[in-house]
Amino acid sequence: MESALTARDRVGVQDFVLLENFTSEAAFIENLRRRFRENLIYTYIGPVLVSVNPYRDLQIYSRQHMERYRGVSFYEVPPHLFAVADTAYRALRTERRDQAVMISGESGAGKTEATKRLLQFYAETCPAPERGGAVRDRLLQSNPVLEAFGNAKTLRNDNSSRFGKYMDVQFDFKGAPVGGHILSYLLEKSRVVHQNHGERNFHVFYQLLEGGEEETLRRLGLERNPQSYLYLVKGQCAKVSSINDKNDWKVVRKALTVIDFTEDEVEDLLSIVASVLHLGNIHFAADEESNAQVTTENQLKYLTRLLGVEGSTLREALTHRKIIAKGEELLSPLNLEQAAYARDALAKAVYSRTFTWLVTKINRSLASKDAESPSWRSTTVLGLLDIYGFEVFQNNSFEQFCINYCNEKLQQLFIELTLKSEQEEYEAEGIAWEPVQYFNNKIICDLVEEKFKGIISILDEECLRPGEATDLTFLEKLEDTVKHHPHFLTHKLADQRTRKSLGRGEFRLLHYAGEVTYNVTGFLDKNNDLLFRNLKETMCSSENPIMSQCFDRSELSDKKRPETVATQFKMSLLQLVEILKSKEPAYVRCIKPNDAKQPGRFDEVLIRHQVKYLGLMENLRVRRAGFAYRRKYEAFLQRYKSLCPETWPIWAGRPQDGVAVLVRYLGYKPEEYKMGRTKIFIRFPKTLFATEDALEV
Ligand code: ATP
Ligand code: MG
Repeated sequence: MESALTARDRVGVQDFVLLENFTSEAAFIENLRRRFRENLIYTYIGPVLVSVNPYRDLQIYSRQHMERYRGVSFYEVPPHLFAVADTAYRALRTERRDQAVMISGESGAGKTEATKRLLQFYAETCPAPERGGAVRDRLLQSNPVLEAFGNAKTLRNDNSSRFGKYMDVQFDFKGAPVGGHILSYLLEKSRVVHQNHGERNFHVFYQLLEGGEEETLRRLGLERNPQSYLYLVKGQCAKVSSINDKNDWKVVRKALTVIDFTEDEVEDLLSIVASVLHLGNIHFAADEESNAQVTTENQLKYLTRLLGVEGSTLREALTHRKIIAKGEELLSPLNLEQAAYARDALAKAVYSRTFTWLVTKINRSLASKDAESPSWRSTTVLGLLDIYGFEVFQNNSFEQFCINYCNEKLQQLFIELTLKSEQEEYEAEGIAWEPVQYFNNKIICDLVEEKFKGIISILDEECLRPGEATDLTFLEKLEDTVKHHPHFLTHKLADQRTRKSLGRGEFRLLHYAGEVTYNVTGFLDKNNDLLFRNLKETMCSSENPIMSQCFDRSELSDKKRPETVATQFKMSLLQLVEILKSKEPAYVRCIKPNDAKQPGRFDEVLIRHQVKYLGLMENLRVRRAGFAYRRKYEAFLQRYKSLCPETWPIWAGRPQDGVAVLVRYLGYKPEEYKMGRTKIFIRFPKTLFATEDALEV
């Protein structure tokens, strides 16, 4: 008995539902800490996996580990990502239900690593498809390419994903992976033209400069030294000790071939990467009328060639703005500031559209080649969602607003699905459902997304009044429209006490995870995301095949305004929620233990924040509302039958009856447990612990 207690004291409980004091955040964190100290980075909350980034290679993802978790019940083995992987896969095979593994957590918490381990698990343990075995390689190789273009070194993470990603893996009726599909969300394109101190631009730029062959660089007109490029020097950290750009480039080059890039396509793609660098080095000088003139002829020359556009057209587009007034086209010269703005807007558009193109191209390569065959109909899908967690910075802007809105939606889905599955299980087992009180964050989602009155609607409305509207008129309109909302506050609306902490250009949202203050500066501009018309025209004329697919002439003739960034994001999120709803969910909640990216350090303050943002206490409360523990009769009997002379060594009757005999013998009181159709439900952890401890003596 003593030894069992000590073991639990030392390594904690492997499922938080077994915490005696389950409403105590301190007890929650203490359990995490004990396990982390023992290198036990995984813990459950019922079916939810909580993971703490160890920042060291724990050697727990080998082929042997994969085998250990195949075909075994979730609870018979220590918590592990592979248990989640295998459980989802088995449900997919046996019930033929689509699955979705949703991975969340803040930057650096280990979402992308988890996604990669899951993919690897499926690639290694699933049977190979009869035809098109290459799809496994493509699924794996799409990753380095997407990471090269979509990941960057930030202060929080040396390999930070700067886009959200949802990936479907399709399995045929034999359980072999036969195809895949990727959806990407909101690439952080501002990074193309600006990086904060200690951060880098997207990996691909440095990889190409370090690893590209001499001849390639010559063709692209590039120098090896990243310092030569204004778009690469702002963060002042081109070299990162944990990153080997040269090797990574080799991996990316190979991966491009695996995902069906022809040599020509690679060349076209690199031309675009190089042209972004050249664009950054375009300088302007003011003439005597203060109009901007391009002074860097060499850069312009390379750009013209790499993008396949007319030099004079590009020069004019970079320094003028075309306005259509009363059916007539007018060219209005730009001043220095406007020209720099136009240049950066072009660089961002070129890069982000290329990223979108890349995703489409990868999807073509991942598309199941059996799409037309009858077996296609019997495919099932397993989705992996690797998307940015809740963000609260010193200064929160439009990007944080979008990201936190996304988390609000996912939280809503999570609560809905968790409660639903709890309820379904109770019903299936014939046990009375006891309603659970929980915070429904629909009210915050509505505040952001509602038609006409929601924040996004009001923002879009202001974006329709160019010249008149400003970030501050947007704020005023917000104040007028949503002033009585309990989750919304501004300086004007705040009382004396809270006013101090709110600036005049700010609004505050009370998210499910806590308060966040947003600064409205740049909201209109970022939401509009305008590219001057003549720059668009120029790009539409590009002879680079990728560019001509990215910029379509229909954009020019289209009278209708393109959707704003926030509205596009909202629509893609609604679509994502529908996709996820149609699948059976699994959750991985990732936690970052410290800001120093170091192993062994457990920063309690930081972790407490994440426990809050991830909604883990609420999750535990919902899970614990009824019964802490539930197990199939067979499994329960198997484990504890030795404790009762009547069930040991063999119980010949129904497992359910055996369990009934067993728990009566053990002295379980009626209020402590319930017998369902296939499972026993135990209300309190201490009942189970007493039984566990009895095993040990
Ligand atoms: P972001 O939101 O910035 O993309 P993320 O949650 O995707 O962050 P990862 O890139 O997965 O974070 O992890 C950051 C780093 O932490 C990895 O590069 C790796 O060094 C380390 N790491 C994460 N998970 C593990 C793990 N399970 N084992 C060992 N190291 C890990
Ligand atoms: Mg990531």
